Amino acid sequence: MPKPQIVWFRRDLRLRDQPALYAAAQRGPIIPVYVLDDERAGDRKLGGASRWWLHHSLESLATGLARHNAKLTLLRGDCVEKLSELAEAVGAETVHAISHYEPWWRKAEEELADRLELDLYDGNYLMPPGSVTTGSGGTYKIFTPFYKALQKALPTFDPLEEPSFTLPDSWPQSDRLEDWDLLPTKPDWAAGLRKTWEVGEGAAHEKLSYFSDIASDYEKGRNLPSVEGTSRLSPHLHWGEISPAQVWKALEGKRGQGVEVFRSELIWRDFAQNILFQFPHYPEENYRERYDGLEWRNPNRGHLIEEDLKAWQQGQTGYPIVDAGMRQLWATGWMHNRVRMIVASFLIKHLLIDWRHGEKWFWDTLVDADYASNGTNWQWVSGTGVDTQLYTRIMAPLSQSAKFSAENYIREWVPELAHLSDEDIHDPSAEKRPESYPERLIEHTEGRERALNAYKAMKAAE
Ligand code: FAD
Repeated sequence: MPKPQIVWFRRDLRLRDQPALYAAAQRGPIIPVYVLDDERAGDRKLGGASRWWLHHSLESLATGLARHNAKLTLLRGDCVEKLSELAEAVGAETVHAISHYEPWWRKAEEELADRLELDLYDGNYLMPPGSVTTGSGGTYKIFTPFYKALQKALPTFDPLEEPSFTLPDSWPQSDRLEDWDLLPTKPDWAAGLRKTWEVGEGAAHEKLSYFSDIASDYEKGRNLPSVEGTSRLSPHLHWGEISPAQVWKALEGKRGQGVEVFRSELIWRDFAQNILFQFPHYPEENYRERYDGLEWRNPNRGHLIEEDLKAWQQGQTGYPIVDAGMRQLWATGWMHNRVRMIVASFLIKHLLIDWRHGEKWFWDTLVDADYASNGTNWQWVSGTGVDTQLYTRIMAPLSQSAKFSAENYIREWVPELAHLSDEDIHDPSAEKRPESYPERLIEHTEGRERALNAYKAMKAAE
């Protein structure tokens, strides 16, 4: 009788195109396991929205496994200890897993490999992070050359089918998912998430199938928050309910600028991971150290700006497009990409608040909160990161709102302004602004000047 094979699931909660599961199934009876390890990630414990998603995604994975009469074993605690104990209890020698690149997962993989045979597989990115290199073998820090090199290196994808399994004689002890308290109860703030999302592998494929029909309009649609012009695949990709190879494959043969731009966005996801691979603390630190000298209005430095941070978080800044985005995030766990850029820029430049406060808020509230993508995008907007985007390029939220026709988006998320005309809604004058809607925290020109002065002061002190 072949030995049981442990399949360690993390952010790869799918049965199709799951190379760890596929390989394990060829070698013996499978024991699929998920370990909830809250301590490994230190202060990067899963945020509230992520925990909500994880609960439903595990439920969906367990249902998929049950179709094969297989059970998902749920364990809680240090993943290395728990997997080692499990292996001993069931007589397994090998753990199969897809590689993950967050620093805490890399460390766990190293520790586990010292204790057991750990077979790692690629599968969560188009190309394994770190594998796309320059002619001289270096790694890329700039997107465009990375994008070109990755496209040249891409294999033809042939995603794996869902394997058939053999089952062990008995199943290990498992926690009950309900006992993990991943869902909010007091208060239950997840009504908007439930209304917005279907979670799981099946739902991810439905989204992909819908999107592949509209992909040719992506170039235009992706910048318009009032239109559903993007795929909304981000949480499914983040949790690995669908693989990027499956997404790429579904668009094979489709031509046009829209599809090309969409492919480049998928490559941004790989790029972010490639940056994290090189700089494991990227989401925590200014990549350009000179910005350590910038005088942020930082809550930790004793300035009285907690109210501004709170107003931003709650969508009460007095800038309709910013408030719409922040309220969409709070209600649904997701925000349109164009609006993510606007709200991030507003926090960093207009409110002069350190990007890390925004990054942390997104970490807690996004259902797609991703260590690499979130950190890379926040540093991109702030101008403190690897790319050439400058701190001194300051987005004007009011003109962005008009340029990208955000009228109906604002009406949906800031209903107190819904009665305003298309012209007024981006920038309601004092007479037209209802009493229930806050005044601007700061005027655009004043905010802009303050940000530029902080930059000048930083330079002068160098
Ligand atoms: P689509 O436009 O349909 O794109 C397809 C896929 O490509 C996305 O699902 C995503 O996986 C990937 N992608 C698209 N844009 C980017 C990008 N700029 N960087 C990396 N990958 C991208 N994305 C996350 O997945 N997790 C995050 O935590 C995250 N934080 C962000 C923070 C800020 C400040 C900003 C400006 C962007 C952030 N993004 C993040 C990127 C982007 O906003 C989302 O991936 C996108 O809005 C998801 O919607 P979609 O699935 O409809 O995307």
